[in-house]
Amino acid sequence: MKLIIMGQVGSGKGTYASRISKAMDILHLSTGELLRQEIKNETEIGKRAKIFVEKADWSAKEIHDIIMELLKKEINKPEASNGFIFDGFPRTLDQAKDLEKITDIDTVINLNVPEKMLLDRITNRRTCKKCGTVYNLISVPPKKAGICDKCEGELYQRTDETEEMTKHRMEENDRCTNPVLEFYRNKGLVIEIVNDNPEALPNEVVERILDKLKKVKTE
Ligand SMILES: [Zn+2]
Repeated sequence: MKLIIMGQVGSGKGTYASRISKAMDILHLSTGELLRQEIKNETEIGKRAKIFVEKADWSAKEIHDIIMELLKKEINKPEASNGFIFDGFPRTLDQAKDLEKITDIDTVINLNVPEKMLLDRITNRRTCKKCGTVYNLISVPPKKAGICDKCEGELYQRTDETEEMTKHRMEENDRCTNPVLEFYRNKGLVIEIVNDNPEALPNEVVERILDKLKKVKTE
């Protein structure tokens, strides 16, 4: 199956995409991860992409072309013979239209999580300055307030995880991806996965997604 997973900042789409790819034996394609790999391995693509990735400049024509080139290579790999799941792509309507030129898409999974739940999840995150372990003051609190369980490092709130920055990132995300969702809705490809239970375990959500995908397949 050829899938796309979409969802707001903090909706857990990376986690779900990774689990779905394992369950269905399809390739997980995270454009952010792929670009980081290319840069790390100092490939031709990596060298060209580096400057854009470092500046988080996703609007330039060149990075758009680099990503398309990279994805074309990935979806033709033998590992993608069963299909793939795109995570973090397409981000814009232009990308969605260009994607059509290199592959068709069977289904778009849209993770629908209430904004309040996302905000609670993100703004309660604390990261260890020393070892990078991530805590959540509500769901995974450290044993001692402000101190890492593993290395006793100091916990801090990342600047992009404050309420103000999170809201800003969400608005930006909506602005870019709403037209993409609309594009796929018009084609009848979108399945909605509502996740409004903060207690739901990732596995339960994944099971629901897999169930819905089976129904789409047999329709
Ligand atoms: Zn630590």
